[in-house]
Amino acid sequence: MPTDLPTGRPDDLPGEIRHWIGGELLDSADGRTFAVCDPVSNSPYATAAAGGPEDVDRAVAAGRAAFPAWSKLGTRERARILYRIADGVEAREERLAALETFDSGLPITQARGQARRAAENFRYFADVIVGLGEEAFRVGDEQINYVVRTPIGVAGLITPWNTPFMLESWKLAPALASGCTLVLKPAEWTPLSAGLWPEILEGAGLPAGVVNIVHGIGEEAGQALVDHPQVPLISFTGSTDTGKHIVRSSAAHLKTTSMELGGKSPVVLFADADLDAALDSVVFGVFSLNGERCTAGSRVLVERPVYEEFTRRLAERAERVRVGPPADPTTQVGALVHPEHYTRVLDYVETGQREAKLLAGGSRPAHLPEGNYLQPTVFADVPRDARIFQEEIFGPVVAVAPFDDEAEAVELANATEYGLAAYVWTSDLKRGHRVAHAVESGMVWINSHNVRDLRTPFGGVKSSGLGREGGAHSIDFYTESKIVHVMLGEAHTPRFGAS
Ligand code: NAD
Repeated sequence: MPTDLPTGRPDDLPGEIRHWIGGELLDSADGRTFAVCDPVSNSPYATAAAGGPEDVDRAVAAGRAAFPAWSKLGTRERARILYRIADGVEAREERLAALETFDSGLPITQARGQARRAAENFRYFADVIVGLGEEAFRVGDEQINYVVRTPIGVAGLITPWNTPFMLESWKLAPALASGCTLVLKPAEWTPLSAGLWPEILEGAGLPAGVVNIVHGIGEEAGQALVDHPQVPLISFTGSTDTGKHIVRSSAAHLKTTSMELGGKSPVVLFADADLDAALDSVVFGVFSLNGERCTAGSRVLVERPVYEEFTRRLAERAERVRVGPPADPTTQVGALVHPEHYTRVLDYVETGQREAKLLAGGSRPAHLPEGNYLQPTVFADVPRDARIFQEEIFGPVVAVAPFDDEAEAVELANATEYGLAAYVWTSDLKRGHRVAHAVESGMVWINSHNVRDLRTPFGGVKSSGLGREGGAHSIDFYTESKIVHVMLGEAHTPRFGAS
């Protein structure tokens, strides 16, 4: 790496990343570790404990021991702790941004927003749990049914490497608000920021054992969590293949699962749209977070009359995106997370050149000879059966294709196995809503981009997921509902032989 580029390497990196179980930082029971690299130098900066079934067992036992007290704590007291966690997260905004940038390659300016969003998750779910009433149904004057909600137990949370800390908070906050204890298995490529949780959670007064963290490789530590008989629920965010595998494994214990999986989200752009706004949104939507965003608008479908103009302008903008070291505040696209992922993305770029027309990018920027860098890449005239149209690339690569009318636009939008997000650009609002309803996805934005109120459900359809989290949906997910029926008046007990 040329010496004049900032490395972003924090001075006080831990040499070893350990599990956090029952309030203690621990090595793996069998002492195994794995090396963790940063995406700029691609050389190891630490070793992390490689968890296995024994470590998961210890973590689940700690979670079970902490469960009775935590689950019975009043919701206001739990909410107070969640508020303090939010404050602790926010107080570490710069630190978190530095760790995330170094470990995952996210541009520092984009990593800075992560702490605020993570803190909001805790404040929001604190408010939800305090505001949540239990339902009662009166039947005539003499009978009443009511619903008791109880936390499900020790939740298993498995998270990916893109925006790791924020996505961890997205699961921790509702699980804790619901009264669950939990075991978190962070992604093995980006375990660094999870090291902030112990100091934040202890500082907020969370009792030991309520949150436990087991690091490790997915097929070992993650699988052990999925297979553990005393973990009744798995909340998973990650790739579709892993999600399908986890659902199959979870069936052995009929676990409650939530799957937030991959996407290949369409942007449907009609000729009457505000092209400037749509262009800004498309560029940001697919290239921000290095394109490593589950809701990235990675297929852009453009109505024929503006197709040439839009693709030309998109290509020009892609060429102007500043790719650079993640720690440089002028960088817009940083380094892709891991050499294995980088190679995978480059393979798609190579495939794309056989399948479609390369308009921009397609290679490493000349000024960045090392590190996992790719100039934002635009492919046009992409046929629907192309791999780059069908498969999630999860990098700064966009596939563009024309359409002639609304019916074809919807058909193309729905022509993949995914259904996470979609975006519609048009000045005809009736059409905007029509297309939003017709597109097969869990979320649609009309003339807007990726803003989501925390009260709304998040999730996908088809191969993009199973179940919804967000708002009260999350509390439903982390709790069991039980109905109780009581006779208030005369007991009309049915009897055999009664006249
Ligand atoms: P991944 O599936 O490879 O890994 C995700 C997590 O699962 C990691 O912690 C990994 O260690 C673990 N894992 C792997 N094998 C496992 C197994 N057999 N049992 C239990 N756990 C296992 O995904 P990734 O590459 O880390 O993340 C990128 C993917 O995540 C993309 O497909 C992206 O679209 C998706 N994603 C989806 C959302 C969403 O909300 N829908 C959000 C972010 C990312």
